[in-house]
Amino acid sequence: MPPLLRVEKVTKSFDGFVAVKDFDITVEPGQMACIIGPNGAGKSTTFNLITGHLKPTSGRVFFHDREITGMAPHDVCQMGMGRSFQRTNIFPRLTVFENVQVAVLSHAKQTLNFFTPAKRLLQEETYSLLEDVGLADEAQSVSGTLSYGFQKQLELGIALASDPELLLLDEPTAGMSPQETTNAIDLIGQIARDRGLTLLFTEHDMDVVFSIAEKITVLHQGQVLAVGLPDEVRRNPEVQRVYLGE
Ligand code: ADP
Ligand code: MG
Repeated sequence: MPPLLRVEKVTKSFDGFVAVKDFDITVEPGQMACIIGPNGAGKSTTFNLITGHLKPTSGRVFFHDREITGMAPHDVCQMGMGRSFQRTNIFPRLTVFENVQVAVLSHAKQTLNFFTPAKRLLQEETYSLLEDVGLADEAQSVSGTLSYGFQKQLELGIALASDPELLLLDEPTAGMSPQETTNAIDLIGQIARDRGLTLLFTEHDMDVVFSIAEKITVLHQGQVLAVGLPDEVRRNPEVQRVYLGE
């Protein structure tokens, strides 16, 4: 089977500053892959290059063996690539239910523009997503009042509303306590397995990803420093030097 995602030598410069240089990655169907790297390494930029939020200066991106380089984000999403953002895209004044419903509706409109889905189906789909992300009891809460951990779960629900095959999560545990981080990683792993999702996520803390990642790409100053299984990457002397300052 071809990889679900293939990125070839992608480079992005901002006014001469090279944020990402010759970035390569392949993600196989069903894989849980992670990009790790310190702050400023180029992780979010890489995601934006994959999802069409930024156009690469050079290089190519393939999804399902189709070239998607430079395609608009909503077209990429339509093909089955979902994402969350490092900074939240929740509507804070809407309830948890409404936030997910908006996302479900926007996807339904794009896929079935000649057919308005029945309200009941829409509600069922929304509740089922809330259950998946552990927010069924918070359905009527105003989103802006949720705890940080719950807001992250809501973001996950919003990202899942487009029923993606590949889900990109940008630092899904950023700002969480160690306990919240463990819970979030467990939840993400469980959802990915239940849905047969392929997952690509970023993380700055290497320890967080070891329990879940099947393949790790280490990014450092915009370039790939190492690729491999978690244990291989952890033993890599260059990675140790960058991460542990040895
Ligand atoms: P990470 O997500 O790994 O923390 P980013 O991808 O956000 O890193 O940023 C990588 C580098 O690119 C940083 O030095 C950042 O300042 C720079 N950068 C990101 N976006 C822009 C932009 N729109 N214009 C100029 N520089 C940017
Ligand atoms: Mg980032």
